Amino acid sequence: MQRITVAYGDGIGPEIMESTIKILNAANANLEYDVIETGEKVYLQGNTAGISSDSWSYLKNNKIFLKAPITTPQGGGYKSLNVTIRKTLGLFANVRPCVAYTPYVKSYFPTMDLVIIRENEEDLYAGIEHRQTDEVFQALKLISIPGTEKIVRYAFEYAKANNRKKVTCMTKDNIMKQCDGAFHSIFNEIGEEYPDIEKDHMIIDIGAAMIADKPERFDVIVTLNLYGDIVSDIAAQIAGSVGLGGSSNVGEGFAMFEAIHGSAPDIAGQDKANPSGLINGAVMMLVHLGKNEIASKIQNALLKTLEDGIHTGDIYNSQNSTKLVGTKEFTDAVIARLGQKPSILKPIEYSNENKPILLKKYVPKPKSKKELVGVDVFLCWDEQNRDANILGQRLEKLTGIRFKLKMITNRGVKVYPDGMDETFCTDHWRCRFVSIKSSNEEDNSTIKHADIVYLLDKIERENLEFIKTENLYYFDDKPGYSLGQGE
Ligand code: NAD
Repeated sequence: MQRITVAYGDGIGPEIMESTIKILNAANANLEYDVIETGEKVYLQGNTAGISSDSWSYLKNNKIFLKAPITTPQGGGYKSLNVTIRKTLGLFANVRPCVAYTPYVKSYFPTMDLVIIRENEEDLYAGIEHRQTDEVFQALKLISIPGTEKIVRYAFEYAKANNRKKVTCMTKDNIMKQCDGAFHSIFNEIGEEYPDIEKDHMIIDIGAAMIADKPERFDVIVTLNLYGDIVSDIAAQIAGSVGLGGSSNVGEGFAMFEAIHGSAPDIAGQDKANPSGLINGAVMMLVHLGKNEIASKIQNALLKTLEDGIHTGDIYNSQNSTKLVGTKEFTDAVIARLGQKPSILKPIEYSNENKPILLKKYVPKPKSKKELVGVDVFLCWDEQNRDANILGQRLEKLTGIRFKLKMITNRGVKVYPDGMDETFCTDHWRCRFVSIKSSNEEDNSTIKHADIVYLLDKIERENLEFIKTENLYYFDDKPGYSLGQGE
């Protein structure tokens, strides 16, 4: 008997969880449930994470978590429970299938059937932000090689396990050549291990437009956290199935399954909620556990119920519905159809060859040859009409024998030397110092951290305010930094 952790959540959460568990039991899923408190009640008891500390032991022991939606109370100080669970349990992959159920649920794309696999832990969601000057804020986008390898490998393994033919990677590597460039090249590298799966890459902006216009051309999409957040909502919306979609958050040891939608407080406690989203989340959980036969049985019964026109209010329509039902009656209709298959919607067959996805353990790569070749010093400077030439000349005096001032940029655009008067400048300046061999020849020879400290000391004595530095390294003779626009 498999034990899982269950949270009934807020709003319609208890109703749809009751429905889902009733169906799981009727299908003989052979599960035992440990129920934990999450959400509004816990938040309002003063726990800003929305989960009590004793609940963690259940999550850790059972490793599988089926979660109903929760309400995050308005007002400051409350942390997103989803983000806390994802990060604490290392749930690096968010998997969201987006399928059209036309004609029973309206969608302009009746044959759409794609899966978005979104990296869940890195990117701008690291939450490292700073205000650096009066005028400028920054958020750090962090992309790691192990994190990228895990999500890309997961996407290919998912495609293999679910008989999917193609994986499309979406990045913005024409602009972010380091971060998104690394994601793209790791995709190419790992893709070679999967010769039977078709691969392609799209820039995220055109990729998002193509999802909105021709979603049928996609099968599995793998992408970074922020892009994935956006495109998974676009895809669910155009599939028409925001109310019906399930999703999983998967890590190496743990996994959490839920509905896409929220706690719908407007219809809570009225027996109106459609439980299909959480049922689909539970089906993903059964596949994850290798209980493929039961997963297929429940999903086919759900499709057959939709096909028979037995609909809750959110999808009820005069053309395709035969009966308007509440949550409880819908649940009983699904249970009555366990063992049946749909005839118009495509029946589902999770084959027993579909093994749970297990990733190879990450093996760290040999260390690169790393050389320090310069430093970007960021200044807050708001004097002398923000004339970049004046700042440049003041900094040129400080460079000495180790460094040359290569350029100054403002919001990434070169403004010194040879800047354009028209470029708008804020109070935030990036000043790039690189090592020199002779007075005018760039050498990229290694400098020492002490040289940077010495340079910063001179900048301080010149009464210039440095706000941060970023070291410039070569990794195996390749620059590990981007060039300025116009450099
Ligand atoms: P929502 O998804 O709860 O509701 C949007 C609309 O869709 C409402 O009209 C609602 O009645 C309807 N709806 C949603 N699910 C339905 C279902 N299963 N059956 C029938 N109708 C359904 O989004 P919201 O109103 O923006 O958010 C409400 C609360 O949910 C907020 O506190 C939000 O923070 C929370 N939320 C939680 C999660 C989660 O726990 N994973 C996700 C999203 C939102």
